[in-house]
Amino acid sequence: MATQKHDDSLEKIAAEVRGCPLCKLARTRKNAVPGEGQLAAKIMFVGEAPGRSEDEKGRPFVGAAGKILDDLLQKAGIERSQVFITNVVKCRPPNNRVPEEDESAACRPFLDRQIALIRPKVICILGKTAYASLLGGSSITTNRGKIVERAGQKYFLTYHPAAAIYNRSLLSALEADLKALAREIKKEEGKSSMEDYL
Ligand code: URA
Repeated sequence: MATQKHDDSLEKIAAEVRGCPLCKLARTRKNAVPGEGQLAAKIMFVGEAPGRSEDEKGRPFVGAAGKILDDLLQKAGIERSQVFITNVVKCRPPNNRVPEEDESAACRPFLDRQIALIRPKVICILGKTAYASLLGGSSITTNRGKIVERAGQKYFLTYHPAAAIYNRSLLSALEADLKALAREIKKEEGKSSMEDYL
């Protein structure tokens, strides 16, 4: 797990991301997309990379996949404004291709710094690219809907919301997963408030 530098902040990271020249995506992006949300977020969502709408607006998950995510959050009773949403790669790959290894590697320190600052109770991994990058995993299908703990950090795995655009049958799995995630967070909150009395 990354350790937090004492003078780091989400704003500082966002400013660095917006001016980042570290990989070839810097040459084709309109806007870098650092991510958005609360420093005190209990859940951090990590997707793959910005798409066209995100590149236009400089904000994560504001296109078709974002509409699905918003709907899933609402059904699970999770407020979008209370979480942090970002991606493995902060700039749009041309034609929304999967980010290449050098791009993920160049961007990784930004994600590690965001995690170190936010210290989320759970990182919700959205899809294969985030799973591969964060945990070296490959098949979401076998592990989805589960908490995985690695180096003291809890991760929750589910499909990428965009997968449900092409395969509507994944929507019910995503819905069940986000509801399970909401229950997990409630359980964690219960634990921390109990610890206040112990
Ligand atoms: N897909 C992603 O992985 N991230 C976004 O921000 C939007 C679509």
